[in-house]
Parts: sequence; structure tokens; C-alpha cells
Amino acid sequence: MAWVEEEVHRSETATDSELQLSDGRWVCKSISMLETGGWVTLYSDISEQKAAAQLLERLATRDSLTDLANRRVFDRTLETVFDTAKKTAENLSLMMIDVDHFKTFNDTYGHPAGDKALQRISAVLQASCRAGLDLVARYGGEEFAVILPGASLEECSAIAERMIVAVRDLHIPHAASPSFEIRVSIGVAEMRDDMVNSRELVERCDQALYEAKSAGRDTVRSWAGAQLSDRQSRRVSA
Ligand code: GH3
Ligand code: MG
Ligand code: MG
Repeated sequence: MAWVEEEVHRSETATDSELQLSDGRWVCKSISMLETGGWVTLYSDISEQKAAAQLLERLATRDSLTDLANRRVFDRTLETVFDTAKKTAENLSLMMIDVDHFKTFNDTYGHPAGDKALQRISAVLQASCRAGLDLVARYGGEEFAVILPGASLEECSAIAERMIVAVRDLHIPHAASPSFEIRVSIGVAEMRDDMVNSRELVERCDQALYEAKSAGRDTVRSWAGAQLSDRQSRRVSA
């Protein structure tokens, strides 16, 4: 019984902390107080557990081809950011990006070349965003999405225009496309007061992307439905 009581006491008073050594290894420092007034400090090398946990975290949150945030992270982040923006009445914009004529790119150059192009496009999309603020995600296939907290539609459109130019500047040959190089189309939308949930914002953004495609691709279109109805309603009430 004495042994059991001492073990219980030890576990109740134990404090653990993790620290990383300069050589990259991780150590767990565990301090247990003793009945006699002294204490025992135990250092254990937890580098392997740490590496495994980090790998799992990466697999669960990143897209393996592009290393961008995956769809799951996108969905969760957008929901959270949408709710916060609703409460604080701050701006929130969304961008949907789709690679133009990508099927014929694969057909012409092969799937591995398509993969490589997606990686290069991802890198310039990421580089065109506001570091530490925007979340760039692989939405699925050759589609990407960017969450821009605090950004107005104008700010979001300006970043989208930058992305169009950045993708053009990659000069990836695409013989089967009218422009003979890879291009992207972008739809942008901002959160409006009358939007009930983040799905609505995604739908509006998708609509804008569809308009960019219809307008001939390699361009940005913003969803203006709510702005129009706002202006109209102001005109009606004036
Ligand atoms: P649009 O200009 O209308 O967007 O035409 P599109 O050809 O890009 O559109 P479509 O949806 O017909 O084709 C998308 C293509 O993207 C088909 C699919 O094979 C390709 N794709 C999706 N995911 C990947 C991927 O991970 N790697 C490669 N190489 N291709 C992919
Ligand atoms: Mg697509
Ligand atoms: Mg496409």
C-alpha cells in the first residue's frame, strides 16, 4: 500500500516539459517530488515520438503533392474565420483559382508533367499572398482556394491580378491551349452581411470563377451580386 500511495503521489506531483536541443533532438523533462522532500528529474529522448507526431500532423493537414493546406484544413479554417468575421464585422474575402485547359495539358505532356506544373503554380500562388495572413489551400484536382481574412474585395482582386501575372511569368508551355502557355482563371467574392454560412461565400466565389471561365479564361472576376442589390436597395429607399 505504501508503494501504491507513493506512486500515486509521485504521478500527482510530476511535472513534464518538452524541450528541443540545439542538435534538433527532443527531450522530455519529468520532475517527480518525493515524500522525503527531494525530487527526481528524468530526461528522456522523445525525438522519435516527436517526429512521428509531426509526420502525422503533416499528413493530416497538408496536400502531399503541393504541400499546401489540404481541403480539410480549408473547410475548417473558412468556417472558423467566417464566424469570427461575422461577429467582429471585419472583412473576409475568398478566392477560387482553376488552371485553364489542364486536361489537355495532361493529355499532351503526361500526368507527371501535370503534377510538376501544379507544384510550380502552387509555389507562385503562395508567394503572391500576404505571408502569415492568407491561407492557400489545394481545393481539389487543379483547383486552389485562398482565404483572405480582413481583406476587402478590392484588396483580394489586386492579389488575384498579381497571381494571374505570376502564373503567366512561369511561361509553362501548353501547346494545346489558345495562349500556348499555362494560365489560370480566378473568381473572388467577399463576405456580405446577409450571408448565413461559409458555404454561401464559396458558392458566390465559384459563380465568379465560372464567369471568369466564360469571359475567356486567364482573368479575374468578382462576385458582384450583393453589391448590385445593395446599391439597388439604396436607390429604392432613396
Ligand atoms: P477549364 O479551362 O475549363 O478549367 O478546363 P480543364 O481542362 O482544366 O478542366 P477539366 O475539369 O476538364 O480538367 C481538369 C483536369 O485536371 C483533369 C484532371 O486529369 C486534371 N487533374 C486533376 N488533378 C490532377 C493532379 O493531381 N495531377 C495532374 N497531373 N492532373 C490533375
Ligand atoms: Mg477544375
Ligand atoms: Mg481547369
